[in-house]
Amino acid sequence: MSVSVDLSSKTALVMGVANSRSLGWAIAEQLLKAGARVGFSYQGERLQGELQKLTAGYENTWIQQADATNEDEMTALFARVKEEFGQLDILVHSIAFAPRSAMEGRFLDTTPEDWNTALTVSAYTLVSAARHAEPLLRDGSSIVSLTYHASQQVVPKYNVMGVAKAALEAATRYLAADFGEREIRVNTISAGPMRTIAARSIPGFGGLYDKGARNAAFGRNATPEEVGKLALFLLSDLGTGVTGQTVYVDAGLSIMTVKE
Ligand code: NAD
Repeated sequence: MSVSVDLSSKTALVMGVANSRSLGWAIAEQLLKAGARVGFSYQGERLQGELQKLTAGYENTWIQQADATNEDEMTALFARVKEEFGQLDILVHSIAFAPRSAMEGRFLDTTPEDWNTALTVSAYTLVSAARHAEPLLRDGSSIVSLTYHASQQVVPKYNVMGVAKAALEAATRYLAADFGEREIRVNTISAGPMRTIAARSIPGFGGLYDKGARNAAFGRNATPEEVGKLALFLLSDLGTGVTGQTVYVDAGLSIMTVKE
């Protein structure tokens, strides 16, 4: 069976693409393939060149710098969305950060500064982006973010980022409730380990990735393309009726204890 998704009448904002390995880019590729017009926001000027290169082959794109924790930059970003698109159908939040110091030692030693940074960047920015987007979102539009199973079980060294992901998943449910009347859907995708810049900053990620491949039901890790395809489902009309959910794409890693 082949299902083709037509997003040619849809507009999207993707926040958090650093390079071609970013999960945000894997999602954007699916949106672009389906014909959507896509705006991108990136955190700082050093990422501009990479995003310019990635989007160069696509006519229906634009890019704008915006640190998701900076209120003025977020206001300017959504003013740009309004100017370019008028309305918005799709919002992708693919942003996370915790200081390395918070992921090296014990969770017990998390400082208030590191706690605030991790939770603000990795969870609150979804709430902020949704609020900025609200006046532009069409009824029936769809919001997706990215989470990780360390929200549910202890993953060594993930520490405060596990707490931030738990907050993101809870925020997904509360946002889904607030937007429910307009049938605006809010979901988060729980992806298995993937080799990205953010992942490389997690101490011991290489071992985690290899163990993931061994223990997953499929005997391999899920791929960024599979994340993109799940996002396409959730962000298109295929996913109507699904909201407030944490949906896994991890090749069956989270269901296993240790494989025989
Ligand atoms: P990535 O490094 O490619 O993307 C993370 C993005 O967050 C970068 O573009 C970075 O610039 C952006 N960012 C950080 N702080 C920001 C800020 N203040 N304002 C704006 N942007 C900011 O890595 P990725 O793995 O693609 O991460 C994307 C999402 O996927 C994250 O939420 C991450 O936790 C999640 N995730 C990743 C994995 C994995 O193994 N790679 C697994 C599950 C979930």
